[in-house]
Amino acid sequence: MQRFETARQAALQMRPDVPVYCFRPDVLKADARQFVDMFPGKVAYAVKTNGEELVLRTLAEAGINAFDVASPAEFAAVRAVAPDAEMLYMHPVKAQSDIRLALEEYGIRVIAVDHEAEVTKLTRVVRALDIDPGSITVFVRIQTKGHAAYELSKKFGAGPAHAVELLQRLNRYGFKVGICFHVGSQIEDPDTYERALVSADWVRGRAGVELAGLDVGGGFPAEYGHDPNRKKPEMPSLEALMTQFRGDIAEWGFDEMPLVAEPGRVIVARAFSLIVRVLLRKGKRLYINDGIWASLSDSWTGKITLPARFIPDPAIRSRNGDAGKLVPFRVCGATCDSVDILSRPFWLPETVDTGDWIEIGHIGAYSLSLRTHFNGFYPDTFVEVMKPFDEGTAPESFASLETMAD
Ligand SMILES: *Cc1c(COP(=O)(O)O)cnc(C)c1O
Repeated sequence: MQRFETARQAALQMRPDVPVYCFRPDVLKADARQFVDMFPGKVAYAVKTNGEELVLRTLAEAGINAFDVASPAEFAAVRAVAPDAEMLYMHPVKAQSDIRLALEEYGIRVIAVDHEAEVTKLTRVVRALDIDPGSITVFVRIQTKGHAAYELSKKFGAGPAHAVELLQRLNRYGFKVGICFHVGSQIEDPDTYERALVSADWVRGRAGVELAGLDVGGGFPAEYGHDPNRKKPEMPSLEALMTQFRGDIAEWGFDEMPLVAEPGRVIVARAFSLIVRVLLRKGKRLYINDGIWASLSDSWTGKITLPARFIPDPAIRSRNGDAGKLVPFRVCGATCDSVDILSRPFWLPETVDTGDWIEIGHIGAYSLSLRTHFNGFYPDTFVEVMKPFDEGTAPESFASLETMAD
């Protein structure tokens, strides 16, 4: 892989017409280690956030030895780079053939459920393979209510009374049991985990079975950009959040049992930036070589403020406008599809023009993992960049949270 000091140097030397992912392995390692140091339990990286081989390999090198997986392809991806790592199969709704593959071929012994039909599938496989249920820990996923950019409890999780029943049933069958939840991704309220712990405590009290662990899922917020036109949202630092979290864990009496976290976004967001090129400027619109079907899937990027840096093409000798003035541009994606327009404008210098590049920072989570081959565009160029995106002068540009009239 080619290596550069900064993404600007990569852009100016490569003059890329395709999107380029700038990977920062040292940032990834540092963010992973920081999380491991702060979290009082096992850390299982959520592979769906970014399952690139180079990411999994770098995390394994950083000492991550547990992974949250959801599919046969994710089992294989983890096994390929970290043969001894533990896998936690935390998808609540699974194909029975995948459960069998997980238990039989991959030796997975931690699994999540949120419905009795999932328990039925699991027990069928366990009997067929003649596995001692006592060697398997089954986490019952409970619903939570919270404030996150991306809610997940609408789709998954058992209500409290239902969770009690599932725990008792699994306990009768001889499984080790635990409680898990996922408060949603990118939480926006520091009390979110405490509310989930209150529910977990209620379920534990009613179930009256011995718990082998509590898995608090993901949701830990990554740092993104800030729109200077808006009030800065009040969110504590990750450190402060973790201090509060450890206090809540102790207060609700979960500090005596093994804890698990499944962070994704908070570990990988800062490790990548993306260089895109302006293929055409048409008035206040920019047509770029990436979009919602590739790295900028709007369901994810539409709710966060992405920081960006402008990389003007030095070959452009005359420009119109004021280079010091930021104005909003509507950003259109690369495909021939009218939904491929970002819902949020990018604020960029007024002088931006056809041929310039934009480096979008903190794009490591839910970006390249969601890219598709739609319309024949599939960004797949990677370079290594040494300098962290945030080092040096502050990024001048950003994707706003305001919507933009055409
Ligand atoms: C997506 C997911 C995660 C990761 O969530 P982040 O908010 O990115 O940390 C963890 N666990 C499960 C079960 C998930 O589905």
